Amino acid sequence: MKIAVLKEAAAGETRVAAIPETVKKFVALGAEFAVEKGAGEGASISDAEYEAAGAQLVGRAEALNGAGIILCVNGPDAASLKGAEKGALLVGALDPARRREAIDGYALAGLEALAMEWMPRITRAQSMDILSSQSNLAGYKAVVDAAGAYGRAFPMMMTAAGTVSPAKAFVMGVGVAGLQAIATAKRLGAQVSATDVRSATKEQIQSLGAKPIFVENVAGIEGEGAGGYASEMSEEYQKAQAELVSGHIAKQDIVITTALIPGRPAPRLISDAQVATMRPGSVIVDLAADAGGNVEGTVPGEIVVKHGVTIIGATNLARSLAADASALFARNLYNFLSALWDKEQGRPVLPDDDEIVKGIRLTQNGKVVHERLNPPR
Ligand code: NAD
Repeated sequence: MKIAVLKEAAAGETRVAAIPETVKKFVALGAEFAVEKGAGEGASISDAEYEAAGAQLVGRAEALNGAGIILCVNGPDAASLKGAEKGALLVGALDPARRREAIDGYALAGLEALAMEWMPRITRAQSMDILSSQSNLAGYKAVVDAAGAYGRAFPMMMTAAGTVSPAKAFVMGVGVAGLQAIATAKRLGAQVSATDVRSATKEQIQSLGAKPIFVENVAGIEGEGAGGYASEMSEEYQKAQAELVSGHIAKQDIVITTALIPGRPAPRLISDAQVATMRPGSVIVDLAADAGGNVEGTVPGEIVVKHGVTIIGATNLARSLAADASALFARNLYNFLSALWDKEQGRPVLPDDDEIVKGIRLTQNGKVVHERLNPPR
């Protein structure tokens, strides 16, 4: 089995889908590994390091020639994958919800496309979950970026010249990114509070030493929809949440928003009027910027200042931690493929009735087969 890793073509992408450690492990499984020259540049991995791990460093066409598995971070165009084996597995963040045309292209090209972001959130698949591995880093980086943009210090400091008071940080949305944002803000010495619609997060917030801010006495506080994700809240709940946030937000210096609802635009959590109540110099990092933003006035990929408050429309923060993000992403891919590796056949075998396979397989035998891609064609 030949595995190919290509240099990512998407603008701004720094990550790579394999690191020397995972190359070594695939080689130990009996695979042959080809890396396109320069693929690791953005993540500070040299060609020589891949070579030392057992990979061949070649041009793109040669890497693809006869490959039975192609690993990627972002889904490439099918047209750029000529030369791969018929039925080759294409494994990466293929973004099927927004790239339907490209998925059709994979089917036509005879590739078996596997979208890692649709990995079911079950215990067995935790180590294969790219959304978690990348969100965790994004939550960390959001706080570091907020600290960079904030004209004051995070921790309390008692100095001969007087006392510096601690920053007050508020995290809205306590999923994977939010939990890491709380932990990071705590490490930097901020006074941290957090909120979510899922009541299960209350205990998690407390266990990190932060203060939970929750809507009480309104139906729907459970807030938990399918698969542990949030559901959309009732109007009554949204009103109560807005009132609660209004009172709290005016006293905050740093706000990190991460709230998402699968398949829907991000919920609006902070209005322009609420931004105006914050002290000038405060910083908001909106991690939901790509999904429409949790904050009124967020511009994806840009930093804007409104009422003296800096609003960072964070997109794809994991890219700014290319080495760690690549390492975790690459291990997610290895953990998935090695779990289904058949030693005798020397290749992964993907059973049709496996929950993981059903969750992520988009195309097979020239057709789009995933039920979420309606109608499959
Ligand atoms: P996400 O990125 O979909 O959303 C981020 C957070 O925003 C969630 O906690 C959500 O409840 C919250 N949110 C949504 N609407 C909100 C609103 N109006 N106000 C405030 N907060 C709001 O979430 P995620 O990080 O992907 O995590 C979702 C769940 O999946 C969590 O329970 C997490 O622990 C779980 N999870 C399980 C696995 C696994 O078992 N393999 C892996 C990763 C995550």
